[in-house]
Amino acid sequence: MTRSPGGPPVIEFRAVELTYPGPPAVHALRPCDLRIGSGEFITVMGPSGSGKSTLLNIAGLLDTPTRGRYLLNGIDTQAMSASRLAALRGEHIGFVFQAFHLLPHRSAQENVELAMLYQSVPRRQRRMRAAAVLERVGISHRAAAPPTQMSGGERQRVAVARALVAEPSLLLCDEPTGNLDSATAESLLELLDTLHRDGMTIVVITHDGQVAEHGHRTITIRDGVLSDPTRHRGAR
Ligand code: ADP
Ligand code: MG
Repeated sequence: MTRSPGGPPVIEFRAVELTYPGPPAVHALRPCDLRIGSGEFITVMGPSGSGKSTLLNIAGLLDTPTRGRYLLNGIDTQAMSASRLAALRGEHIGFVFQAFHLLPHRSAQENVELAMLYQSVPRRQRRMRAAAVLERVGISHRAAAPPTQMSGGERQRVAVARALVAEPSLLLCDEPTGNLDSATAESLLELLDTLHRDGMTIVVITHDGQVAEHGHRTITIRDGVLSDPTRHRGAR
């Protein structure tokens, strides 16, 4: 038996694999078991094309495994309809991407409010919650500005605010510092550290070893083969 650090598993992969049919078939993720406990801060490292985004997209319910089972917060997602998956994703997961994916001409405030559009949050509450989360990530002074008038670091803070506004239990970040200079990257990582201290479960993909130092467990992946240090430790 292996134990996962942290609380009860948020992410549990049981022999999960993903193959793109091709031809030629691409084994983007070879069969793997993975447990990430509540409150953990995990980094995923590996060269380009190794399967990092595939892993994150499965964890984030953006992609479904070819085989195996994925349990999110103990909920078996196998055979769920696309609409149930979308609802589960909206309730449990926040995403941050390398390229920010903000609406360029809407204000930071509007970008965050729009993330609540499909949940039945009344307008006034949407406004208040967006303002509060922008404050939390330290960007409230730029709430009225559109991303086109922001630095990369500011944009990524808005993206983090948007990811947090629905109060997810899991924050998934795909190379969040990939477009940032090293000082700005460090400051974003400090924000993630703060969120982690407040109890958020965080998974960050990176190919930067300095980023990986922020997590307390690093999973590596190479040619679709995942290696997770906890799996080599015996139960204690
Ligand atoms: P990483 O994020 O580590 O750069 P990815 O998870 O994006 O890697 O990709 C893993 C492998 O799967 C790569 O060989 C990539 O070319 C391949 N791949 C990714 N998406 C697709 C797709 N839609 N169709 C076919 N192959 C894909
Ligand atoms: Mg990728």
